[in-house]
Amino acid sequence: MSGNVTEADIIIIGGGASGITAAVAAAEKGASVIVVEKGGATGGAANMGMGFFAVESEQQRNQLADVSVADAFKFFMEYTHWRSDARLVRRYFGQSADTVKWMESMGVSFLGAYKYFKESWQTWHVVKTQGSNAPAERAASNLYRVLTERAAESGVDIQYFTKAKEILTEDGHVTGVRIEKEDGEIIDAECSCVIVATGGFGDNPKMIKEYMGYEWGKDLYSFRIPGVTGDGLNMLWSAGAGRTAPVMELTYTTPGVTDVFKTISETMRQPNLMVNLDGFRFINEEIMNNTVYTGNAIARQRERTAFSIIDEGILDTYKKTGLDYVTVHHNIHSTDKWESEVKRYFSGEASESAGLSMLHDDAAKQPDYFFEADSLAELCEKTGIELANLRATMGAYNEAAYGEDTLFFKKHKYVKSFTGGKLYAAKHFPAGYGSLGGVAVNDLLEVLTPEGRKIPGLYACGTDACGIFGDSYCFYLPGNTMGFAVNSGRMAGMNAAAYLDSDEFE
Ligand SMILES: Cc1cc2nc3c(=O)[nH]c(=O)nc-3n(C[C@H](O)[C@H](O)[C@H](O)COP(=O)(O)OP(=O)(O)OC[C@H]3O[C@@H](n4cnc5c(N)ncnc54)[C@H](O)[C@@H]3O)c2cc1C
Repeated sequence: MSGNVTEADIIIIGGGASGITAAVAAAEKGASVIVVEKGGATGGAANMGMGFFAVESEQQRNQLADVSVADAFKFFMEYTHWRSDARLVRRYFGQSADTVKWMESMGVSFLGAYKYFKESWQTWHVVKTQGSNAPAERAASNLYRVLTERAAESGVDIQYFTKAKEILTEDGHVTGVRIEKEDGEIIDAECSCVIVATGGFGDNPKMIKEYMGYEWGKDLYSFRIPGVTGDGLNMLWSAGAGRTAPVMELTYTTPGVTDVFKTISETMRQPNLMVNLDGFRFINEEIMNNTVYTGNAIARQRERTAFSIIDEGILDTYKKTGLDYVTVHHNIHSTDKWESEVKRYFSGEASESAGLSMLHDDAAKQPDYFFEADSLAELCEKTGIELANLRATMGAYNEAAYGEDTLFFKKHKYVKSFTGGKLYAAKHFPAGYGSLGGVAVNDLLEVLTPEGRKIPGLYACGTDACGIFGDSYCFYLPGNTMGFAVNSGRMAGMNAAAYLDSDEFE
């Protein structure tokens, strides 16, 4: 289609994971659809991802994964203390396996259902990349390519480099969207329904500061996927939508190391001794593979930072036995590349490398976040950790290695004593995938006013509407943000199309 159409039944703002899914779902129900996407591609942040949550899928049955909608629902509602919209969660989980099938019917292949870490559930449906049978970073971009092709075949008009500026309403009803074309021309495009799918404000440090209190680049190093600048939330709030308190999808990272020097990073993300700047332990390091819990605990510490520490003796153990914790996405099992990476890191490559969390110029030059030292005193001088306390902490930790961890009850096999040689420390900070939530919706993804009334014809989905997690993302059920994005997008698309066919719509 032309890309210059200015009238449709439904205009979708944002062609990311939720927006492009909504477009296909609405078009399949017979609606005419325009997607306005301010960037040059669909898929949004999800192009960086690998797969999404589903329960009771064919893949899980084939892999003998014992997961049901009922169990996942109960677990999730317990996890969120029933602060989540139970009807929306139920719809999302209930639809999730069918969404996998629906995508397969378009030609998407899935490798199978994966865990994210040992204690998590096997709910992460990782997309297969052509010619490979191994989970691969950014594999989900294949899914969005297929959805985009399907959208075009279904007559959806995708307008790239077109930015939505305002949701237009008359007498409380949606009438259109004010858009800005690439050449700066402003057009009022007309429609009966608007679906907002702009991905939150992960790339807007001002909003992050205002709503979350973090200063990006100082005490937060979240992914800043270009384009997700909070436009949708601001447009929705201006159009009279109710607000919900947004949160960050918090994890943790070692800036300039995590996505660049993967062997260093994964070795330092083992259940090693972790201390804060005062030299005290504050976490049972066994939980470090749950990056959300670790991020939460680090965020409580002075300067919102913490250090994991090992020595050559511990490194030797990892060399002999392999790493205790292995992740599907980084897939690092051994310390084979330790020496070469350490050499490269200290030769200054860290500041020049662009890890995913360092996509912005303002973070290009950073101080060191990985340290090597010949003595505890030197390590403390380099890191700023309080020496006397760290010495005492290490003493107690070594005793625990020969007895038990009476402080945080860490499993004995993970308490490895410090026996000497060089010391290594990695400095960690809260990180994250972006923001979550901010606009009030009901279980049909209809946008609500502060009084809880529907704004006819206005829908929101994906990150903008993802208020289901409460205070902390649920990594136990991995794939859950993309899962919410594609399922809420699908529901919003189908519901908007159904609304246009209903008596409610005159
Ligand atoms: C590195 C990384 C890896 C990830 N891996 C996974 C994973 O494996 N599994 C998982 O569950 N989740 C994962 N996620 C999270 C997942 O990507 C998001 O949950 C998902 O992309 C959210 O979808 P969305 O549609 O809300 O936003 P997005 O996919 O970000 O799309 C938003 C779109 O809106 C457009 N837009 C914004 N403002 C405007 C405007 N004014 N006008 C027009 N267009 C606009 C943007 O350009 C963008 O294309 C990952 C995230 C990152 C950053």
